[in-house]
Amino acid sequence: MKEFKHFINGEYVGSASGRTFENRCPLDNNLIGQVHEAGQKEVDAAVKAARAAMKGPWGKMTVTERVEMLNKVADRINERFDEFLQAECLDTGKPYSIARHIDIPRGAANFRIFADVIKSVPTESFKLDTPDGLGALNFGVRKPKGVIAVISPWNLPLLLMTWKVGPALACGNAVVVKPSEETPATTTLLGEVMNECGVPAGVFNVVHGFGPDSAGEFLTTHPDIDAITFTGETRTGEAIMKAAAVGLRDISLECGGKNPGIVFADCDLDKAIEGTMRSVFANCGQVCLGTERVYVERPIYETFVKRLAETASNLRLGRSEDPEVNMGSLISQEHKEKVLSYYQLAREEGATVVLGGGVPDVGEEMKAGAWVEPTIWTDLPDDARVVNEEIFGPCCHIRPFDSEDEVIELANNTEYGLAAAVWTENTSRAVRVSEQLDVGLVWVNSWFLRDLRTAFGGAKQSGIGREGGVHSLEFYTELSNVCVKL
Ligand code: NAD
Repeated sequence: MKEFKHFINGEYVGSASGRTFENRCPLDNNLIGQVHEAGQKEVDAAVKAARAAMKGPWGKMTVTERVEMLNKVADRINERFDEFLQAECLDTGKPYSIARHIDIPRGAANFRIFADVIKSVPTESFKLDTPDGLGALNFGVRKPKGVIAVISPWNLPLLLMTWKVGPALACGNAVVVKPSEETPATTTLLGEVMNECGVPAGVFNVVHGFGPDSAGEFLTTHPDIDAITFTGETRTGEAIMKAAAVGLRDISLECGGKNPGIVFADCDLDKAIEGTMRSVFANCGQVCLGTERVYVERPIYETFVKRLAETASNLRLGRSEDPEVNMGSLISQEHKEKVLSYYQLAREEGATVVLGGGVPDVGEEMKAGAWVEPTIWTDLPDDARVVNEEIFGPCCHIRPFDSEDEVIELANNTEYGLAAAVWTENTSRAVRVSEQLDVGLVWVNSWFLRDLRTAFGGAKQSGIGREGGVHSLEFYTELSNVCVKL
């Protein structure tokens, strides 16, 4: 039986209250261990340790020293790759085949990329003329913002947490991380790595618990937090934004989506099917950038629906370590209930169920797991809830369209604006359509291909702010101007 403790000031500590909650594996609902739940006391201690670290050796370190340390962290994650892999898959139920290529290597890469960025980004400088003819020299200085609260979700736990911790530390901040209550393992393990790499105590802290009236709320309302970075649901983002308003703390919000995939008749159909398979079903559909609405140009509509359904019916569901498996379970029983309620709603709203729509038979041993079938619907009206609300499961609705203008309007007809995928071999059309989509990210003839130097974030209710490359520096540093009269 494992015990997941907080990581505060370089040490693992339990909760003073003795309060714990269960961590279960969603593949079979077996108990993994007990997680300590932080109260105000542990959150205070973590924030205090982070503040002290900013005043200690960490605050005085040169950029070169920090960069070396972060590269070491990336190396050490890779050296302990299998431990991270097993911990992540046990917590989430995802296949090794996915986590081995995405979660763990990208989790490590997040430290390396921002170490590179911080080394090479210049600041601005202006020479100002003055009446005495001597002038003044202005130059920008980037300073760390201070203590950053990092609130992360369960779908890509290590990857999305390090996506924030990497740049925050590269910029010289200290962090207090509250991982999702569903996935405490890899964030906890990262504490060991930080110690092994000589990261000073208090720079990286972890507190476990839930959102409201628990660690999440205690952390985001803490007066000594300088900024909050969050990935999760839009409604949670709203609560965090309210908390951040007190004391005018900066926020970065990466929230939900209801992303369109647009397939034109002039696409390379093999590529479009392969890409849409991944964008709908990867990680059991629990990817913020995933496609839940697919629009297909009428001449290839029937063929596309048939081929996607055929390919999806061959998905292999099962245990993480099975090399043949390419789809795991959902994250939890609670999420399974939510996704199944949408499967039911789709039928009530008049969907044609092309594939799935229920619970698969995965055998006696995994019967208690959070399993749902890969599911495809057609024939729903545009105002159906299933077509408009984020489900976050392995499912999509496919609808035909007849013109570019029509599909742009359909794609933009949502309160969200995170990502879109466009499939066409006509480059002019690809550019023309991409520019008109109200989203933060557009993929043309690909999906999830990420250059970590580029801007990442959502429009409308999918978020506030951009992270990635130099854009992360905007959030994780305070830019000051120094004006020197010559
Ligand atoms: P969630 O909002 O339920 O939880 C996210 C985190 O917030 C958890 O750590 C949770 O404990 C914490 N939290 C909840 N209420 C809080 C409160 N009042 N104060 C402080 N913290 C609180 O999200 P989730 O279910 O873990 O993740 C799935 C959601 O995340 C989906 O909506 C998905 O689209 C979104 N997501 C977005 C991105 C992106 O980059 N835009 C990436 C991944 C996931």
